[in-house]
Amino acid sequence: MIRDGASPVWHPFTQHALVPRIPKIERGEGAWLVADDGSRILDAISSWWVITHGHCYPPIQAAIRRQTERLDQVIFAGYTHEPGETLARQLVGITPDGLDYVFYSDSGSTAVEVALKMALGYWLHTGRARTRLLVLQHGYHGDTIGTMSVGARGVFNQAYEPLLFDVGTIPFPAAGAEQQSLDALEAACRGPDAPAAFIVEPLVLGAGGMLMYGPDTLREMHRICRAHDVLFIADEVMTGWGRTGTLFACEQAGIVPDIACYSKGLTGGALPLAVTMCAARIFDAHYSQDRRKTFFHSSSYTGNPVACAAALANLRVWETEPVGTRIATVAAMHERRLGGLAALDGVENVRRTGTIAALDLRTDAAGYLSDLGPRMLAFFQARGLLLRPLGNTVYILPPYCITDAEMDMLYDAIADCVNAVLTQR
Ligand SMILES: *Cc1c(COP(=O)(O)O)cnc(C)c1O
Repeated sequence: MIRDGASPVWHPFTQHALVPRIPKIERGEGAWLVADDGSRILDAISSWWVITHGHCYPPIQAAIRRQTERLDQVIFAGYTHEPGETLARQLVGITPDGLDYVFYSDSGSTAVEVALKMALGYWLHTGRARTRLLVLQHGYHGDTIGTMSVGARGVFNQAYEPLLFDVGTIPFPAAGAEQQSLDALEAACRGPDAPAAFIVEPLVLGAGGMLMYGPDTLREMHRICRAHDVLFIADEVMTGWGRTGTLFACEQAGIVPDIACYSKGLTGGALPLAVTMCAARIFDAHYSQDRRKTFFHSSSYTGNPVACAAALANLRVWETEPVGTRIATVAAMHERRLGGLAALDGVENVRRTGTIAALDLRTDAAGYLSDLGPRMLAFFQARGLLLRPLGNTVYILPPYCITDAEMDMLYDAIADCVNAVLTQR
């Protein structure tokens, strides 16, 4: 039986016992969401990091409309279609040179699962069964069993811990401790039990608390993996599509991963779609007259034509509109206001990479379950702002259409929130 008057919907990452009312959103336009009571909410986290150009971006909407009238869905095993073919060719063209093949799925988690399976398949089919995976401390790669296994362990996955497989964890390259991290990676790669792959979020660890490190460290990580023939998997599910200032974060380090995962902004945020791209040698390891070497992975909606058409429209936006300029403008807006926040008492670790800005509130009770998060969330909600702190970390990850005035609303609210929260305790 459903609780009296309650909805049967079970929402993600939502403790229903603590959230009495869930706003119902009717429309999205640009950086704004409109609720059923007419109230407007500024979407400062791009609806969980997916919206890039703004909600209901007209060229993407138009492409979706056109495609739905031609072909809605078709099995992708043994069949193909134009949007899927064209998108794959264009993705190979714009991603780092050496990512030659495109495997479709429909979420960041599945893109990562596919990457892990590709890596293990590569080693098995080339006759050197390597199965151990290396991961970066505080990493996040999704909520399925496999992706939780390669992600940080904590309150989120405590209940499922017995199901998670063992990995080697490399310490996060915090400022000043980069060399320790690189040394640990080197040692883990050199060890007797040679790892199959190292998976990493390039430049920014999103769900781990918007933790940032530099392109030099990323380049070194890649060099070490290459030197020991450990596959380098870049999880660009969040960092892709301009978030870090360049189309892809790996560009800033000048590296080509062996396997890369892209999702979130791939369709501009309009529809679920993901790709796992890989070097030819990984595809080639599976290419055989032996059917046992088939890549055994699929989901029902693999390569959905409508989602592919949306992604193609997104690529066209990148090609024909000044997206780079918009991104640089967002970065400049952050710079204009970040110094003011850094000067506030109780604020630390103010940081920015590209369009993503973050800060930590100094607190004894750090971590996701500190009561700071919900208090701040309520504060921002009351101001009509969608900001969703990660524990004591407040971050802004806006769509690229955000204006100066809207950014000011966010920064003013964060400053007020810091003062309110810190004086209350
Ligand atoms: C969000 C995210 C994922 C998971 O993507 P979903 O679409 O939510 O499954 C994986 N990796 C990173 C880095 C992410 O930020």
